[in-house]
Amino acid sequence: MRKMFIAGNWKMNNTLTETVEFLNEFKELVKGIDNVEYGIAPSFVCLPVAKEMVKGTNIKILSQNMFYEDKGAYTAEISPLMLKDLNIDYVIIGHSERRQYFGETDETVNKRIKKALEHGLKVVMCIGESLKEREQGITNIVLEKQLKGGLADITAEQMKNIVIAYEPVWAIGTGKTATSEEAQTSCLFIRNTVSQMIGKETAENVRIQYGGSVKPANTEELMGQNDIDGALVGGASLKADTFIQIINKA
Ligand code: PEP
Repeated sequence: MRKMFIAGNWKMNNTLTETVEFLNEFKELVKGIDNVEYGIAPSFVCLPVAKEMVKGTNIKILSQNMFYEDKGAYTAEISPLMLKDLNIDYVIIGHSERRQYFGETDETVNKRIKKALEHGLKVVMCIGESLKEREQGITNIVLEKQLKGGLADITAEQMKNIVIAYEPVWAIGTGKTATSEEAQTSCLFIRNTVSQMIGKETAENVRIQYGGSVKPANTEELMGQNDIDGALVGGASLKADTFIQIINKA
């Protein structure tokens, strides 16, 4: 049985004050929920306070990115040692916004994943096709390329610490959700590709989240699909009263 994982990617939203307000409310709302894994990825500046505030709860704290070196002259980058020191639970790697605006490639995604795992950090690896690629009918080619590049040299043992987030770029922050059928088809393709690359058992166990305009109204339908094991949620995770509805429905 794969445990559902609902993660909120806050991107460049919510100040420290807003993060504290959110967590005070959210901690009460999630009390007693342990059959679904859930967490938030606030901005870097909020991580230490967020991590402190969730002590004694099941709330996971994720980082939105990480650099692939331990330390050195890399102004403004965040190292795995810094995240490990805070006991951060997961690192999101390869989000489409990182790929689109900050030059992330499958190669740098792979470097980051290896470095995170080397330091005992779990990973949420994001992949997904653009609207143009979907319209050209090359969705599966793109997903396979991102999987093969991002997961190059990753072993079955290491895959136990990796969650894959399927996020069609055209559905992120646009209000356009993939239909449950489209999302399921792509998540099944991802699982089959992992099976070919790393093995059947790994593919059966790896959790695949769907991301792209997930909201309370579409959660049940999407999460009800065989190969969808959770969600990476942007906009709808910023307010505790909305995010809790997604968790409850999952
Ligand atoms: C995301 O940021 O990963 C995302 C899916 O955003 P949204 O839910 O706002 O589309």
